[in-house]
Amino acid sequence: MTNSRVQKTGTINKNKIEKLIRQLLIELGENPNREGLIGTPKRIAEMYEEIFSGYKMNSELDVSFSEETNAIIARDIQFYSMCEHHMLPFYGRIHIAYVPNGKVFGLSKLVRLAEKYSRRMQIQERLTTEIANEISKRGVSGVIVIAEGEHLCMKMRGVRNNNSIMTIAYRGVFEEKGIRENILNLIYTRQNNIINL
Ligand SMILES: [Zn+2]
Repeated sequence: MTNSRVQKTGTINKNKIEKLIRQLLIELGENPNREGLIGTPKRIAEMYEEIFSGYKMNSELDVSFSEETNAIIARDIQFYSMCEHHMLPFYGRIHIAYVPNGKVFGLSKLVRLAEKYSRRMQIQERLTTEIANEISKRGVSGVIVIAEGEHLCMKMRGVRNNNSIMTIAYRGVFEEKGIRENILNLIYTRQNNIINL
């Protein structure tokens, strides 16, 4: 409403997607008119509106100011995304740690930021760096983003590799190896969420 141009470019054409999915079913040798499939193109169009909603999400990281100079860790943010190479889901957890420099972000805003970049065609490396860049832009002293993802395109086909993939992006103070290792230890040893560096 406040920005109709952004709304427009981010809104998908559900009618067109329905037609394309129907055509895809035919190309796959299916009968799109049979009972089980008759509603599928419409369901997929509705579903795509939700799972690709990241394109039209804004990323206002509401800020509260604080004297806090410690690192803050948001662990285990669940994400679901779509591999842009195969259009199959990849999903898992994102951990975000940052050193505020006077600015503290609400946890719900970090969750929304993860949704903004995961609900679209994506690769895990870019998902990780885009979140780190966005937080870094807000003038924090440092940020580290870790994503752990399982990829259906690896599990269902090809080498059928069952491992999860881990990607890391860091900016600011976390570029220093010692500080980075400290925070990684804290993230993976499950201590308190606010720590002194
Ligand atoms: Zn893939």
